[in-house]
Amino acid sequence: MKKIKQYFIPALIIIMAVALAVTMFSTLIYQYKRSREDLVELSSQQAGIVLHTVIVGIQTTSGIRKRLHNENIETNTVIKVLKEYGTGALIQKFEKPGSIYYIVCQDEKQIIAATKGVKELNSIWSDIFLSDAFSKEEMSHRILPGKKYHFETVCPFRINGKKYLLRVCFKIESIRTLEIHLIRRLTLQGSVFVFIIIILVLYFINIHSNRLLAREHDKMMAEVERIQQQLRQQERTAAMSQLAVGIAHEIRNPLNAIQILTQRMEREIEPGEAYKQKFTQFTRIIREEIKRLNEIIKQFNDFSLAKQPKFKECNPVNITKDIVLLESGVAQQKNIRIKFIENKNPVSIKADSYLLKQALVNVIKNAIEATPGHGEIIISVSQNNKQTDFIVEDNGAGMTEDELEKAFDLYFSTKDHGTGLGLAITRRIIDQHNGEIIIQSREAKGTIVTIRIPNRRKNESIGN
Ligand code: ADP
Ligand code: MG
Repeated sequence: MKKIKQYFIPALIIIMAVALAVTMFSTLIYQYKRSREDLVELSSQQAGIVLHTVIVGIQTTSGIRKRLHNENIETNTVIKVLKEYGTGALIQKFEKPGSIYYIVCQDEKQIIAATKGVKELNSIWSDIFLSDAFSKEEMSHRILPGKKYHFETVCPFRINGKKYLLRVCFKIESIRTLEIHLIRRLTLQGSVFVFIIIILVLYFINIHSNRLLAREHDKMMAEVERIQQQLRQQERTAAMSQLAVGIAHEIRNPLNAIQILTQRMEREIEPGEAYKQKFTQFTRIIREEIKRLNEIIKQFNDFSLAKQPKFKECNPVNITKDIVLLESGVAQQKNIRIKFIENKNPVSIKADSYLLKQALVNVIKNAIEATPGHGEIIISVSQNNKQTDFIVEDNGAGMTEDELEKAFDLYFSTKDHGTGLGLAITRRIIDQHNGEIIIQSREAKGTIVTIRIPNRRKNESIGN
């Protein structure tokens, strides 16, 4: 709809410009045709006058010749008079430089008289137009075949019962002038029109490309910002992971010693009856804390000594089911129900199942930790032929906007005993799978975490 609106005005303007141009051109051509018809009409009238004058002249001289003959006037004298006033002389008198191209008087066999310069003309019976006019005995007009500006009028007439044909041809130079004018005006108006259209088109192309450029610029800037943030994050992560692996290494040995000593204390020291209960309680707490510290060291190591994924064909539903089983025990202790919506016929995917399980454990653990007793966690796997979504939904504490923004930051934790490593590790695993992790969360309402990974590796099609 927006696109239609965007192109509507330029399209309307161009349509209007084209309509205007078509109207202008048709008016010009119509005017030209009218003027041409007027000119032809005028010259046919002129031709008619010339033809009738010549015919009257010829008929008169023919009468005079007959009379002189009847009066028995000497032949030489007759020839002399006719030379001066006969048909030939009469026709020659019309020959003016300019509009009359030729005047010819002919009978069925030959040319009787003609203006100068006419040597050969088609005979009456070899030309349909001429023969037609000759037999019908009526005046006719035509544009001379093969010529553009030569207009011929023919008129048959009789003298003493014999038929003749008088032809007059005008060269209408004004039509040429008219055409030159028309071409000039068409060229001029056409160029103005084309120029306007080009300007309009350029204008709209400019507006359009500016819009595209602005959009591309915004996209690029967003991409640059994203990459910069990623780089900053990677730098921070690298520095922190070095620190983490160092600390984990340093802690491990004293922790082992504490663990061994605690076990020995429990085995070898027999406290007096008065201290027995306290002794057992303290050693239990020490064992629990050692376990927690070991867990932290494991997380540090998991994070710092990141494994390269080994991609293998695996079933996403089976992976999720294993983790649900694993975590159900912890959930039950808190009276939390984990509901797994199992989908039939899952599509197999190419992933590192060990790492994927690690990612899912981290997310599900967070959900359990955020959910109060008697809460519920819903886990599902949703697939299409391109990607797989692992969705973990809880109705627990949720996150504030600030927490959501920092959730993936290394060591960010809102928990008393949290390490802030879980989501950072998860994100790295998902990155290694070219996937993404999306968290939607509302404070006091709950959280939905979606782990989305492509079913296939890049450049790999189904069946590979
Ligand atoms: P940790 O679990 O050690 O705190 P994580 O990286 O796993 O570290 O999580 C970081 C923080 O993100 C948590 O401390 C918590 O504030 C928040 N968070 C993660 N998952 C959830 C969840 N499902 N509900 C509420 N807050 C969560
Ligand atoms: Mg966690």
